[in-house]
Amino acid sequence: MPSAKLQVPRGTFDVLPEDGQRRRELTCSAGATLALAGYGVLETPVFEDTELFARGVGESTDIVRKEMFTFEDKGGRSLTLRPEGTAGVCRAYVEHGMHKLPQPVKVWYSGPFFRHETPQAGRYRQFTQIGAEALGSDDPALDAELILLLREILAPADTRLRLSSLGNSETRGAYGEELRSYIRGHESKVSEEVRARIEQNPLRAFDSDHPGTREVMAGAPRLIDRLDPEDAEHFADVRALLDEVGCEYELDPALVRGLDYYTRTVFEFESPSLGAQSGVGGGGRYDGLVGQLGGPPTPGVGWAAGVERILLASPEIENEADLRRIYVVVPAPEKRAEAFRLTQTLRARGVAAEMETAGRSVKGQMKQADRVGATAAVIVGDELEVRNMLSGEQKVVKGIEDILTPV
Ligand code: ATP
Ligand code: MG
Repeated sequence: MPSAKLQVPRGTFDVLPEDGQRRRELTCSAGATLALAGYGVLETPVFEDTELFARGVGESTDIVRKEMFTFEDKGGRSLTLRPEGTAGVCRAYVEHGMHKLPQPVKVWYSGPFFRHETPQAGRYRQFTQIGAEALGSDDPALDAELILLLREILAPADTRLRLSSLGNSETRGAYGEELRSYIRGHESKVSEEVRARIEQNPLRAFDSDHPGTREVMAGAPRLIDRLDPEDAEHFADVRALLDEVGCEYELDPALVRGLDYYTRTVFEFESPSLGAQSGVGGGGRYDGLVGQLGGPPTPGVGWAAGVERILLASPEIENEADLRRIYVVVPAPEKRAEAFRLTQTLRARGVAAEMETAGRSVKGQMKQADRVGATAAVIVGDELEVRNMLSGEQKVVKGIEDILTPV
């Protein structure tokens, strides 16, 4: 019986070496940027109790309503592949009593995340996020610092920053009522979807691209005009700090984030070059989340950015040939052991080195040296010869020291 061709599951992909290198470099440089600002690495499991996300992300969100990969383990426990990272970080903070450490606790992470969505360019069922969180302080300097860190990590991509504040849960509750009755007053003009969700999440109406809804929402009351004095002051401070360092942003009172837990500052970096999947990274403050998960009242702020979208929005940079890379040519089988030893010695001296392992002719090996981007080829013949792959100049050398001094 002919078997069906095995392929990656829908919405997932293999990372092949060339792309893999770009992804690694992005994560490494993000890690270096975050380490300079005092963020440590925190790793949490890729699956958690479903309850964590139901409570932490919010029952009314798209993520919990329709995007989670949920399964039962053999003991009948409901588990979910993590759709986002903040809930897990907060769980770990509580579980390890990190509130007893000097505050704030600043951490970052990177890894795979899972959402059951309709796959399209820049939208997958398994994707990779880099995220950072600061827990235990509500200082607006942390909001500003995190925004600046994300801006720096996204620097190669072409993005713009949208910024807003959602205030606290009471203000949001009162504003929600005000907004509900406003939308109800224009019920005939808004989309069916918005009408169906007036009760559950009226804020989402700002996100709609339905023309009638857009028209109605243009005249809607704005949360940013209803903030408590303390929240307004907090937001003014975040903005003043961003202004202090010349960080440009667009104030967007209709900025809605897809997670329920945000309070006060929210922000998103968008790239016009990405089309429909324009969000590259975003986040905000979540002062109620740790408490909601059973921990002590603890303010927090953080963001997450999608590695695939960052790279889609960044032009490819040609690798500069600053690295010395040597291809070890084996002209005859009896030279193989010597070539092997030489390759190991070169690597031990910190030089990138590869030797022929496919039985090609010397000419074929030279071609291969070119393909792998070697700056020099070393021919292990009766004499040791070095060929400069850029100039084509070739000369006999006495030993390894001559190879290591640039030709
Ligand atoms: P969108 O509005 O595009 O669905 P989101 O608001 O759901 O995005 P967040 O929850 O804020 O996204 O996640 C942070 C980042 O993770 C996004 O800005 C994006 O770069 C990335 N991301 C989210 N979902 C996906 C996905 N399904 N595939 C690839 N990247 C994703
Ligand atoms: Mg989404």
